[in-house]
Amino acid sequence: MELVQGFDLSRLTSIRIGGRARYLALPESLEDLYRVTLISREKDIPLFLLGGGSNTIFGDVNGVVVSLSKIRGIKVWEEKGHIFVEALAGTPLKEITSLALRENLEGIYRLLGFPATVGGAVAMNAGAFGVEIKDFLQEITYMDWFGEVHKISARELDFSYRKSPFPKEGVVISCLFKLRRSSSPVAEDYGRIRDLRKRTQPINLPTSGSTFKNPLPKRAGELLEKVGMKGFRLGDVAFSEKHSNFLVNSGRGTIEEVRKLLEEAKRRVYEEFGIKLEEEVRLVEDSGSDGWKVL
Ligand SMILES: Cc1cc2nc3c(=O)[nH]c(=O)nc-3n(C[C@H](O)[C@H](O)[C@H](O)COP(=O)(O)OP(=O)(O)OC[C@H]3O[C@@H](n4cnc5c(N)ncnc54)[C@H](O)[C@@H]3O)c2cc1C
Repeated sequence: MELVQGFDLSRLTSIRIGGRARYLALPESLEDLYRVTLISREKDIPLFLLGGGSNTIFGDVNGVVVSLSKIRGIKVWEEKGHIFVEALAGTPLKEITSLALRENLEGIYRLLGFPATVGGAVAMNAGAFGVEIKDFLQEITYMDWFGEVHKISARELDFSYRKSPFPKEGVVISCLFKLRRSSSPVAEDYGRIRDLRKRTQPINLPTSGSTFKNPLPKRAGELLEKVGMKGFRLGDVAFSEKHSNFLVNSGRGTIEEVRKLLEEAKRRVYEEFGIKLEEEVRLVEDSGSDGWKVL
């Protein structure tokens, strides 16, 4: 297993912000994953699981960042009129949305257009345009923090808006999706969503997607716009002009700038509307040494 010291984490996030990791581990097998988990527990080294880094902003991490990028691959088969897809956690979600377009599969294609991995998307219960990834999940295989592997029906797990039991319960290793062919062509809707994203989201700039969860029925972006955060900048980081709830990094943005921007946005929204915004994006840094934990 590759283990790198002092790795520049900005290279592993879509917003290109990051300090350094004491260690970056790149497990290639379940055994590697087991070993890195065990060692970090025994040596009290904090651990962070990384998928595509599209919902993560790093500072310095005095611990081990475990990238699942080498644990990838999908198997597809058809059974009793359904298409089953089994995907390892580090597989780009795009492989499934592209398959859905090719095979004209219902629903899941709507999760197109963000650079997630399957494991990260399940951990975040990613959703867009009326669907959430949990809607298609049949079964999950995960390793708990004691190294035991479990296979569990998705119905037994508690998913809600951008929330799942992971990574608290352990590392998602693989996911089984049950999909159906659509009775009408999905290509048109796929194209519509792709164009809408291009028009309304700063996808050509380094970003980490939605910063805050929507305090439903209100939209975080609208509230941020109303309190003047659209385009609000601190150093190299700003709330996007195109989408007020997306942060963009125009150069050498830092987690300190992000933290200050988030504080300012939360303060303004609370003062104006009495609503407490909750982060969707994960800010990850640790320089403490207070025992083993999952960041
Ligand atoms: C342009 C853009 C548009 C976006 N649009 C959307 C959108 O429409 N809808 C939406 O929901 N999100 C959106 N996002 C946010 C982001 O893509 C999603 O949250 C995505 O699911 C994160 O996946 P990831 O693999 O990048 O996760 P990461 O950022 O790497 O990790 C996210 C969380 O998942 C955990 N995790 C990762 N892998 C595992 C694993 N194998 N087991 C257990 N825990 C794990 C991490 O520890 C972390 O807590 C967007 C992002 C961008 C950049």
